[in-house]
Amino acid sequence: GAKERREKLLTINKQAARAFHRWLYAPEGAQGLAYLQKRGLSKGTLTRFGLGFAPNRWDALIQELSKEGYDKRDLLDAGLAVSNKDGRIYDRFRNRVMFPIIDTGGNVIGFGGRVMDDSTPKYLNSPDTPVYNKSRNVFALNIAKKSKAGQVILTEGYMDTISLHQAGFDSAVASLGTSLTPDHAQLLSRYFPQAILAYDGDGPGVAAAQRAIPLLEKAGLKVRVLRMRGAKDPDEFIKSYGREAFQRLLDQSENQVDYRLDQIKKKYNLEDDAQKVAFLQEAAQMLSTLPSAVEREIYGGHAAQTAGVSPETMALEVKKAFQQRL
Ligand code: ATP
Ligand code: MN
Ligand code: MN
Ligand code: MN
Repeated sequence: GAKERREKLLTINKQAARAFHRWLYAPEGAQGLAYLQKRGLSKGTLTRFGLGFAPNRWDALIQELSKEGYDKRDLLDAGLAVSNKDGRIYDRFRNRVMFPIIDTGGNVIGFGGRVMDDSTPKYLNSPDTPVYNKSRNVFALNIAKKSKAGQVILTEGYMDTISLHQAGFDSAVASLGTSLTPDHAQLLSRYFPQAILAYDGDGPGVAAAQRAIPLLEKAGLKVRVLRMRGAKDPDEFIKSYGREAFQRLLDQSENQVDYRLDQIKKKYNLEDDAQKVAFLQEAAQMLSTLPSAVEREIYGGHAAQTAGVSPETMALEVKKAFQQRL
């Protein structure tokens, strides 16, 4: 039945993860191990995350799992093999360092594999399978769910999350390049009351943060946004400036409403009176979507201060926008 099928695929994935991890320490994995070490990962981190290496052969994993009695169909269904036109199958992951994706129940459900140079695609991920749905799972939640931090740190990538854990930030997870989905937000809300967005500081990262905020809020999480400065992403930041500096970024992270006010502010030149008016109107529109009157007042005050008008005037503007919405 379907349940037995799922169990079988999970067992295959677990065996695959073991093989990849073993290969990391085999002679043919030397390049993979050197790569991960060059990226600053300790032995303990490699073990904790079960990182591995997929050999530079067409059928390393296929041979390995055939020995365990699995057939072509099983390997294709698990997303570990792909077939060509004449029905021959070969390993999906070759010559890559491997990141197992583990669900909150401790099952290996899929993999990401990274090349060790500048070739493309940089990362290759398992396809969706009967046991892996990328819209419903986040990387490292199996570890982060045990954190006492009270806030989940959301990053874009495997290396960001792993670097943060290695630096002691044990509530980091990654949505793995896919934009955050309502299911991701729901899942995170089961374990955490608050989320901190620590996406890359580039355009796509900022856009992804803006899209993630309403989804997380809707799932009941309080959202803060970390501003990445002086580095592309959390991994590079920690390498350049260290863990204390990252802790300062966390401490300085902004409530999502202040963050959105800042984003609006960037569009206007507040030295110019007409633009200042336009800023306040757009800010009032945004603030009028907040369901809480207390929040509308507090953040209205922040916007007023930014533009140098009285909080009372701003409150009136927000009230007007709020009533227009009803
Ligand atoms: P690294 O530090 O190893 O270069 P990164 O995480 O900084 O990786 P980004 O380009 O910022 O890389 O991508 C963020 C995440 O998006 C990756 O960790 C990966 O999960 C996913 N991703 C990136 N490139 C691809 C790709 N070509 N195909 C699928 N997923 C990808
Ligand atoms: Mn990026
Ligand atoms: Mn990176
Ligand atoms: Mn990145």
